[in-house]
Amino acid sequence: MPPVISHRRLLQPRSLADALKMLRDEGPVVPMAGCTDLYVSLNFGTLADTRFLNLWRLDALRRIELRGDVLAIGALATHTDLIRSPLVGSRLPMLAAAAREVGGVQIQNRGTIGGNVANASPAGDTLPVLAAADASVVLRRADETRRVPFNGFYTGYRRTQRRPDELIVAFEIPRVRGRQWFRKVGTRAAQSISKVVMAGVSDPTSGTARVALGSVAPTVVRLPRTEAALGAGQAVDVAQRILIDEIVPIDDIRSTAEYRRRVAANLLARFWNDTHRR
Ligand SMILES: Cc1cc2nc3c(=O)[nH]c(=O)nc-3n(C[C@H](O)[C@H](O)[C@H](O)COP(=O)(O)OP(=O)(O)OC[C@H]3O[C@@H](n4cnc5c(N)ncnc54)[C@H](O)[C@@H]3O)c2cc1C
Repeated sequence: MPPVISHRRLLQPRSLADALKMLRDEGPVVPMAGCTDLYVSLNFGTLADTRFLNLWRLDALRRIELRGDVLAIGALATHTDLIRSPLVGSRLPMLAAAAREVGGVQIQNRGTIGGNVANASPAGDTLPVLAAADASVVLRRADETRRVPFNGFYTGYRRTQRRPDELIVAFEIPRVRGRQWFRKVGTRAAQSISKVVMAGVSDPTSGTARVALGSVAPTVVRLPRTEAALGAGQAVDVAQRILIDEIVPIDDIRSTAEYRRRVAANLLARFWNDTHRR
């Protein structure tokens, strides 16, 4: 039987302002977006006495728009929204590519980018993209809005800088110059969590590279030493050796640390060949 959330346990805000007041005054409550991650925990019985704040109707948080030269993506934008958005397609195609790899169509229709990020799994598919794009996380509580660099948002395994009375309301992505690249390696193409996931940006004009990896450390990571080696014109096999030294993957049920190291190094070579030479 699927778990049922009673009305007593579900707060139904009508606006963002309502939701923020409820978070401040009626806590502790857990924000609930597409519920694709939360339902798994509910099924396991780990959220038995939890009260939830249903964000799903807050359409203002679904917008994808340009603010000046910054791409702003509302936290409630679903993976399907990201795939279909012409703005994402033109400004951040690696995000559309990541969204296409999330679960199957049903999960893409319900799962949101805000949920993917807040859930804080190091295997989340959109996370390396936001890391490589130098995105900011826009956090709001009743009386304050603050912006946190995505690359400082995670403080440890499944820990973030979000305070209990804050919602993620959006992500802001400055213009990304250069060629974008995304790959997920999993057991199969659909419905599988990544063994390794990489997003990269190579800018042949400035000679710089940005590389972010998921599933190789407790949080998604950027690889500053690897990026510096590529940016300095070192051969890709030198950069691969640096990458292997820079990541700290673990053995788990999905893969071994050794496999992840090798795949990550192979992905780096593929990224550099695909984006740097042409
Ligand atoms: C069958 C299946 C396949 C999947 N495949 C993939 C996959 O391939 N790749 C992948 O990355 N993920 C996958 N997932 C995980 C999940 O679908 C994604 O992480 C999705 O983006 C979560 O979004 P959601 O809106 O459903 O989050 P929810 O389940 O609603 O919430 C997840 C967490 O985020 C918090 N939260 C949600 N929105 C906000 C907000 N705006 N502010 C603050 N906190 C918030 C919630 O409190 C909760 O802790 C899969 C899940 C399932 C069940």
